[in-house]
Amino acid sequence: MSKNYVVGFPRIGEQRELKKILELFWSKKADFSEVEKVASELKSRHWNYQKEAGIDFIASNDFSLYDNMLDTAVMLGAIPKRFAGLSDETLYFAMARGNNKSVAMEMTKWFNTNYHYIVPELSKEDNFILNSTKVMNEYKEAKAQGITTKINLIGPITFLGLSKRVDRGDTYAFFGKILPLYEQLLEEISELDEEITIQIDEPIFVKGVEPKVLSLIKPCYDALCKVSDKLKIIVTTYFEHSNEATKVLIHTPVWGVGLDFMYGEKNLESLDLIKNANKKLIAGVLDGRNIWKNNIEETVTLLEKIAQTVKRENVIVSSSSSLLHTPFSLKYEEKMNPEIKNWLSYAVEKLDEINLISKVFQGEALGEKEQKAFEANKSANKSRKNSTRIHNKAVQNRVKNIVKFEREGAYEERIALQHKVLNYKPLVTTTIGSFPQTQEVRKARRDLKNGSIDDKTYTNEMFQYIDDCLAFQEECGLEVLVHGEPERNDMVEYFGEQLQGYGFSQNGWVQSYGSRCVKPPFIYGDISRPKPMTVEWITYAQNRTEKIMKGMLTGPVTILNWSFVRDDLERSKVSKQIAVAICDEVDDLQKAGIKIIQVDEAAFKEGYPLRATDIPRYENWAVRDFKIAVSSAYKETQIHTHMCYSEFNDIIRTIEAMDADVISIETARSGNELLKIFAQVGYKQEVGPGVYDIHSPRIPSVEEIVVQIKKLLEVLPQEQLWINPDCGLKTRKWEEVKPSLENMVKAVKIVREELA
Ligand code: GLN
Ligand code: ZN
Repeated sequence: MSKNYVVGFPRIGEQRELKKILELFWSKKADFSEVEKVASELKSRHWNYQKEAGIDFIASNDFSLYDNMLDTAVMLGAIPKRFAGLSDETLYFAMARGNNKSVAMEMTKWFNTNYHYIVPELSKEDNFILNSTKVMNEYKEAKAQGITTKINLIGPITFLGLSKRVDRGDTYAFFGKILPLYEQLLEEISELDEEITIQIDEPIFVKGVEPKVLSLIKPCYDALCKVSDKLKIIVTTYFEHSNEATKVLIHTPVWGVGLDFMYGEKNLESLDLIKNANKKLIAGVLDGRNIWKNNIEETVTLLEKIAQTVKRENVIVSSSSSLLHTPFSLKYEEKMNPEIKNWLSYAVEKLDEINLISKVFQGEALGEKEQKAFEANKSANKSRKNSTRIHNKAVQNRVKNIVKFEREGAYEERIALQHKVLNYKPLVTTTIGSFPQTQEVRKARRDLKNGSIDDKTYTNEMFQYIDDCLAFQEECGLEVLVHGEPERNDMVEYFGEQLQGYGFSQNGWVQSYGSRCVKPPFIYGDISRPKPMTVEWITYAQNRTEKIMKGMLTGPVTILNWSFVRDDLERSKVSKQIAVAICDEVDDLQKAGIKIIQVDEAAFKEGYPLRATDIPRYENWAVRDFKIAVSSAYKETQIHTHMCYSEFNDIIRTIEAMDADVISIETARSGNELLKIFAQVGYKQEVGPGVYDIHSPRIPSVEEIVVQIKKLLEVLPQEQLWINPDCGLKTRKWEEVKPSLENMVKAVKIVREELA
């Protein structure tokens, strides 16, 4: 009997049903009972998809109304004091989203994915107490429908490792309090059935575990495995290898170990240990976080390699991680080009692949339908290997033969020339690029897409908007202007749509946090730029003003990090192709008379690898590609970059190596503390630390911006400082943007007068 396994399934719903009902509930247009009804339907539907596809190990408790870390905090009674007095869903959603009395809990990225989890807040005053209701109910719910699930839990070590202390101290100090609650939970679970499988997720292990954490593994899993003979415990990791932890785990009585062989190839080094300990291996061989059809023949080859060490009957074929990070189902992709669609596989399609892989691997007879699916899989992969949509010799040659990896001139020489040409004052004012995206702007873009207006009408509407942005900026007294980005729905999608090798889905939604989903574009082939992408808009704007116009592009690393990326070419090579396309755009802009060009790298930090040892390699090619992207710039063309971060301590040398003339960053919420690093390392280039926080609707006063600028001046000299908001303004309203920027300009005037 072949055994196969799915780590977890997406929950938002193939039509984003969960999102929709949650948002109705939050705006008081639906009752909580309606939320519960939709949730039950979704759970049931998702279990049945897996059952019908022949999946043996189907999860319960992978569902969540908001987030699994939040669920775990609630399960353990880790409720921050400010939410005291609330209960049930009121408490739960207040923790997630805040209420009118208390701010929400912090949210942060789940490892290197674009999913965000709620960060539990722990303190000495917490009285941890078990609430097992959700876990127990989901198991029973599935069982009542004839589906016996494995129960997914976030492991105690990961829970503590990803939490924060609100009082002084270390989260792991609570290990002794948390472990008994997990024991109690397993005790209760063991009453549910004759035999139960539990998947305990410990992804924290993949970061390369410190000795202190490593020392917790054995006591933890010895204790949990002792609770009941009825329990089969699997410890699962994903997104990287976890060899250090595996070494310890195999000396505990766990039944199985789940490893990711897609993003953690080094896990192969643990196979001997697993064999010797006679554990089950949950082999993550199907990519759980990408959208490509699996290559079944190649995957079976990998499994054969694994089976040379671990006994075949001990190998359970699995997704490499939860399928949470993939969209739902291709069945709603009605508009996609059929050739491209045939290369893709979303969560529902991946289920059939897992089933088929496990059957082929275990040598089971395939039914007629399965045989057909196997043949179709081979031919889809062959078509992908050979398609001219994907493979573009001209691009490959160009990238192979790059000779110019950076622009001419050292920074000192360039900046002197730029000051001559641009002639701006110290504390020069600008914005980050976008202005409010109004209803009308969005509607015009939609109308163009669905054909209800023609190109010309659309262009005129955009020009009109650009005129308005310019008029406001001139009136307000801003010094370096932007066109406002009305033509961009999204800073990556806009470029993707114009690059060859990029695809778009209709329904490829992936949960980002809570009810929020994103629909990343995907890179399927070699990237090229058939024609200029931004020149028309920016030169239009430049021709309407005497002031300097800043052209606006998205950088290669950010384009890469916010897309699904092809798996048949290394990321660093894909990134290089994008860099070449952007390089051509930079050149076209400067030839059209644009003297300042900003190349946004908002997501530069998001691509950092999970393990410290892999960081230099990433930084190497990421910096290389940013530099290639601007290598066409003349010495006197000023290159800016923008990053949506404030913490630069660990990457300051890397930022410096990118060699942009000016960088704008997101320090508004931290005063001047985080800026100090720039002074400490003797950073020479110009810096625009955000002077106010655009993420809040609040309008900053002149006085407070004056204070902020003075704080900046304590760290860096005026000649090195630009004054700007901390990010783009597209999510704000004009009523907020206008007075805020007016105050910013007034504040600069005051400070300049004092300095004069
Ligand atoms: N230029 C972009 C904008 O202003 C930058 C967006 C971002 O940093 N996320 O919208
Ligand atoms: Zn930003």
